[in-house]
Amino acid sequence: MKFVVLTKAAVPLSTAIRIDPKTGTLVREGVPLSTNQWDRDAVEFALKLRDRYGGEVIAISMAPPSGIPALESLIGMGVDKAILATDRAFAGADTWATSFVLAKTIEKYVPDYTLILAGEETVDSTTAHVGAQVASHLNIPYVYYVYDAEIQGNKIRVKRFLEDEGVDEFYEMDLPALISVAKGTQMPREISLSRKLNARERIIQVTNKELGLDPECVGLKGSPTFVATQTGATFPPRKKKIFQGDPRESVKAFVEELKKEGLL
Ligand SMILES: Cc1cc2nc3c(=O)[nH]c(=O)nc-3n(C[C@H](O)[C@H](O)[C@H](O)COP(=O)(O)OP(=O)(O)OC[C@H]3O[C@@H](n4cnc5c(N)ncnc54)[C@H](O)[C@@H]3O)c2cc1C
Repeated sequence: MKFVVLTKAAVPLSTAIRIDPKTGTLVREGVPLSTNQWDRDAVEFALKLRDRYGGEVIAISMAPPSGIPALESLIGMGVDKAILATDRAFAGADTWATSFVLAKTIEKYVPDYTLILAGEETVDSTTAHVGAQVASHLNIPYVYYVYDAEIQGNKIRVKRFLEDEGVDEFYEMDLPALISVAKGTQMPREISLSRKLNARERIIQVTNKELGLDPECVGLKGSPTFVATQTGATFPPRKKKIFQGDPRESVKAFVEELKKEGLL
């Protein structure tokens, strides 16, 4: 079985995000990227399925070359190989152009895939569109927020939990299919240094020369979304109030203050 995991080399939450004022796009050049936090749940899920049913786990990412260290870490977790789709022509992609490149990379390099796994959303754009769009490009069924799955023959039975309804749902789909893995449900395993040692040999880089996609359908040109205006958030100055004295009384005073500010 071949388990393909979509993983984004994202701008970590600890990094101040910069937007190019001309194009309205996120600046990724020169920014250290790391695996989108929630994609590690998807990777863990894929590794568990491989441990149970056999086969291999292939991570696929569309990113600039600075996304390589993120893929090395995933190989350190146990991923068998990784494919990085990287080309200047892919820069400035919205979710549609991103998912198009990912779908075409899968079609070309892993045509016999069994299951595609995506994270629930990313920490630096959080649209949660890409998984569904990849499935649509490939014309396969998909279910989001999955936390458990069982494969029988050419079918997959998945469980998902819906927070608002507080209920579990069960779905059965024909394979190949795509699932997005519910964030925070999988306890991703540690990165092993010994597995990471020869990681570079397991990473294939593909450009648009190999993929041969119409330049009008990728990157900024292939993106129907555009940024119309941008506004920066302004932060109110800190009040620096200190609540002293008896801890019970100061906590009460603190809670009252929060209520007064409309924060509770
Ligand atoms: C007009 C416009 C221009 C943009 N320009 C840029 C830009 O120049 N640079 C930039 O970084 N972003 C840019 N973005 C944001 C970019 O579209 C999204 O970051 C990207 O398409 C992924 O969407 P998301 O982060 O919301 O992923 P989500 O849909 O929230 O991600 C869901 C899951 O899909 C998978 N996934 C998402 N992205 C990738 C990926 N790249 N590779 C592999 N798997 C993935 C992961 O499993 C992830 O957990 C732009 C957006 C718009 C609207």
